[in-house]
Amino acid sequence: MQPNNLTKTVLLGMSRSELEQFVAARGIEKYRADQLFKGMYAQALENFDGLTTLSKKMRNELQQTAQIRTFKTLQATKSQKDGTTKFLWELSDGKTIESVIIYEGRRVTFCISSQVGCALDCKFCATGKMGFLRNLTSGEIVEQVLLMKERAERPPTNIVFMGMGEPLLNLRNVLKASEIIADPAGLSFARKKITISTSGVIPGIKKMADINAPWSLAISLNAVFEEKRREIMPVSIQYPLHELMKAIEYYVRRTGKRVTFEYILIGGVNDGEADAKRIIKMTARIPCKINLIPCNSTDPDFPPPTGEQIVRFNNYLLDNRKTSTVRMRKGWEIQAACGQLYSENRGKAGAKISFKSTNSIGKLPHKKET
Ligand code: SF4
Repeated sequence: MQPNNLTKTVLLGMSRSELEQFVAARGIEKYRADQLFKGMYAQALENFDGLTTLSKKMRNELQQTAQIRTFKTLQATKSQKDGTTKFLWELSDGKTIESVIIYEGRRVTFCISSQVGCALDCKFCATGKMGFLRNLTSGEIVEQVLLMKERAERPPTNIVFMGMGEPLLNLRNVLKASEIIADPAGLSFARKKITISTSGVIPGIKKMADINAPWSLAISLNAVFEEKRREIMPVSIQYPLHELMKAIEYYVRRTGKRVTFEYILIGGVNDGEADAKRIIKMTARIPCKINLIPCNSTDPDFPPPTGEQIVRFNNYLLDNRKTSTVRMRKGWEIQAACGQLYSENRGKAGAKISFKSTNSIGKLPHKKET
């Protein structure tokens, strides 16, 4: 059931079999479910008027009891510099989420949210400061993609769950939405171009391995020494680094896929040679690619690395035969970092997971571990 204030049944996000149940309950022929599926996803219809395969009477009946879309667009902000476009959507219960389109050469990435807020409280993340409000439904995940497709300059080449929320804590709806997005009669998007990015939720990684999920997996690593990681990513208290790396090895063994490590380079914090060395050691048995993302925050706790340090760090990885790329974060001037637009508009609210630890989880000290 959709968590909304609507009296009509929301069809977006329903699988074929759910649509079959929906039409059967109304005495409508089963094959109409396929027409609804294609209409909502492949044809991206906003309402039933365009479903001309159905009789007018049937369309009217559907209109009375059901609806397809639920979002209101509150804001769409485009960067003059690089075209990055950030959207703020209002959900049917008044809560808000955001999604971003990023243009990089021929690549067009849709960055989508999986939750309203997030409980994991990563210290560099604006969404983390909001706390967790609720999971998104599969329909709300799909709706982000449909709406951005209508507004993007070009069709997406990649879809990443790197917006608000930890996707592995809403895995059921993330997997269901991804199936619809990839379904040839749905949005027909290439499976391996959908990436689920996690902060390191081990049970979710194992689940993805066990079901041999066809989606790509990225891990937001950001620190390779346990104490430092716990300070910036409290999730590491519950799921420590050494166990996380074992879970990733398990995933790689079970699926035969390589993974991506995202690593935000923070000046003087995690951009030293010791950090680069540790990455090489930790990932020695893991087929992977490393994306270095230079921090570009105005927060004094998270200073940007120097250009020289970025090059040195990347070269160190490349010299040690790692596949590594530097990705400049797009859209900083329109606050396209995770959760920033929401925080600007709504302030903070919601629950955070409190991880038990003897470590203090506070300000990030500007010192390196050795
Ligand atoms: S970075 Fe991701 S997992 Fe961490 S607080 Fe932000 S949304 Fe949550």
